[in-house]
Amino acid sequence: MNNNKTTLTVETILAQGLGWMDDANNGLIPGIFPGTTFEREADNSYPNGRVYTRDQNPNYDQPEAVLAALEAGEDALLFSSGMSAAVSVFQALKPGDHIVAPEVMYWALRNWLLTLGRDWGLKVTFVPNGDIGALKQAVIPGETVLLWMETPANPTWVVDDIAAWAEVAQSVGALLAVDNTVATPLLCRPIDFGADIVMHSATKYLNGHSDVLAGALITKNQDGFWDRVKKVRNAGGAVLGPFEAWLLMRGMRTMSVRVRQACNNAMAIARALENHPNVEEVLYPGLESHAGHAISKKQMSGGFGGMMSVRVKGGESAAVKVAANLQLFKRATSLGGVESLVEHRASIEGDGTPCPADLLRLSIGIENSDDLIADLKQGLEAE
Ligand code: PLP
Repeated sequence: MNNNKTTLTVETILAQGLGWMDDANNGLIPGIFPGTTFEREADNSYPNGRVYTRDQNPNYDQPEAVLAALEAGEDALLFSSGMSAAVSVFQALKPGDHIVAPEVMYWALRNWLLTLGRDWGLKVTFVPNGDIGALKQAVIPGETVLLWMETPANPTWVVDDIAAWAEVAQSVGALLAVDNTVATPLLCRPIDFGADIVMHSATKYLNGHSDVLAGALITKNQDGFWDRVKKVRNAGGAVLGPFEAWLLMRGMRTMSVRVRQACNNAMAIARALENHPNVEEVLYPGLESHAGHAISKKQMSGGFGGMMSVRVKGGESAAVKVAANLQLFKRATSLGGVESLVEHRASIEGDGTPCPADLLRLSIGIENSDDLIADLKQGLEAE
């Protein structure tokens, strides 16, 4: 079943999982298929085309179709993590290929590009976020094959203009890939703005319960480059377990209510903290004071996401102390789960990070916003 050109809204696609069922028993929820191999017919053919689970497990079919439909793409692939999804795009390139990425982006992927990516033979140029002039100067006709972007970008939530990046990519015949983990397809669909590939750490909002590590890629076109990406997954084997794929699908069915609640909570928290005497700055694209607010309004709809950062007056030690004082927010990395998290981000990003030392990253969950605001205020005001 391939319904990815459906006209259904994202809420309905998610809640009903595109109507997939357990055909054998007429159950509403498809089962888990742990088998790794499939029997050949006597005539040596493979009925249904299934051969081996590294190529395609039956539990991938539904979430991949749902993801393609959500992002308005032609096809989708699940991976064992967000990192393996992203790295598969780069591994489908060839040594000597030139790529451009923003300075502020998910730190582990930036580190991969700077180390293993360069060892792999990729030429990588980083440009300041929000600077289209610098992007235009960085691309090299005939050499630049891919532009990578993330918006809003970890951990300062700087916003880049997807349509403007797509225009620059097209001007040199390069592809545009967008990490859409933080916005989710509920709030932003990069393909509508000219992106060719969309990436997700499905570990975050798509699953939403901090209990599955997974990644996904969605393509606008099933072209030759997509065939190479598929080969990277199938041959390299960065595949998801069937149980994790099933859990991910279960998590995705409630994503619209989770993301909406997280957005509403985040907006209320941003407003409550923006003038707090112990706060230097609240970084949240939903605030009018945020440099990316206008672009966010153009390319996001229904909310500005559940991620924000707070710069604490008094520097690094003051920020670490506030995190230590919090009672409801869990001190942990990651994002997009139902529970709220706080993280002193520079500590995990390490040397060379563009992250300010006074910054606390908040992943806002689906608790009651009054409880979260009270916790943050007591954490900021504790002696
Ligand atoms: N992209 C973003 C924006 C992320 O926040 C993360 C993880 O934190 C990743 C990619 C990597 O995903 P994973 O941890 O599932 O490998």
